[in-house]
Amino acid sequence: MADNIEKAIEEGLSYICFTDHIDYDYPVEDITFDFSPGDYMQSIDEMRGKYGDRIKILAGVELGLQAHLGPRYNELLKTWPFDFVIGSQHLVGGLDPYYPETFHGREDSDVYRAYFEDMLTDIRAFHAFDTLGHLDYIVRYGRSRQKSYSYRQYADLIDEILKLLVRYNLALEINTAGLRKQLGFPNPHPDVLRRYRELGGTLVTIGSDAHRPHAVGFALNTARDILKSCGFTHTVYYEKRKVQFVRL
Ligand SMILES: [Zn+2]
Repeated sequence: MADNIEKAIEEGLSYICFTDHIDYDYPVEDITFDFSPGDYMQSIDEMRGKYGDRIKILAGVELGLQAHLGPRYNELLKTWPFDFVIGSQHLVGGLDPYYPETFHGREDSDVYRAYFEDMLTDIRAFHAFDTLGHLDYIVRYGRSRQKSYSYRQYADLIDEILKLLVRYNLALEINTAGLRKQLGFPNPHPDVLRRYRELGGTLVTIGSDAHRPHAVGFALNTARDILKSCGFTHTVYYEKRKVQFVRL
């Protein structure tokens, strides 16, 4: 945590929010995405003691969406005072697209479509989060990656997802890891951000999806420029689960 905070200070950021993963019932053997919220909160308190005069430090979590997990996530969020909650689709058909086997014997476009269908189902079942993480994350892992992807190709499903976000007053994340991973765009693609706005969405969070200190704050200026070009005037972050507006 200290290394990430020091990088954030170096980047001139005024706040940083940790969003470690919890993916209950993650399907790959011998891998768990879970942590002790008590220890986590304690570590963040220690960091606030050490760096709190230089940067605001927030305690978030990234929850892996699966339709049946709603009750467990509700219990978690009731018990622990997170500042910010990202809901992210990390699975398609119960498999992690990070592993190439998920795409074996299938067209990328079929897997992408299945991914958006699962996301729609999972958000209908559980939407007690603040922002939807990296909406077109699946594109990072297809064999042909962005070549099989455009907003238009999946607009029927993506529009339904975006309408749910607007209806439930949820933010959409612009995640700069797509740029870091050479997709040529953040996740989601600017066409999706533009469509969210057209449908009445106003809340966008910015995340660098940094799993290591070197990526903290990556391409945040690019994200800001993209948001402006899509017509947004503000970005948001969350503190004690309350939305905070920052002018772009
Ligand atoms: Zn994620």
